[in-house]
Amino acid sequence: MHDLDYFKQQLLSRKDDITDRINAIDKDIKHEGMSPNWTEQATERENDEVLESLGIASEQELLMINNALKRIESGEYFVCSMCGEEIPPSRLELLPFSSHCVNCAGKAENH
Ligand SMILES: [Zn+2]
Repeated sequence: MHDLDYFKQQLLSRKDDITDRINAIDKDIKHEGMSPNWTEQATERENDEVLESLGIASEQELLMINNALKRIESGEYFVCSMCGEEIPPSRLELLPFSSHCVNCAGKAENH
């Protein structure tokens, strides 16, 4: 039986990972030790775009995790934010930051 503490730990360790990832991406974008070669700089600019989209995805995930942590604090973690039904723990184990039941997640994706 999984309880809130279990999911809280999952979310907190995931949050640590993502915070590390975001910090690493930031460092890469700032180019510590910039190369003096123009060709390499062009390649680095392309990398920046990839890094930026990675950074955006990571920050979105971080927002979702923070949101889930708030839902734990307010006792709404197991409740679907759209229909108010219970979210099955098996789903939360796969997607610990999910705030919708399977039905509502399906509906949200079709929009
Ligand atoms: Zn729902």
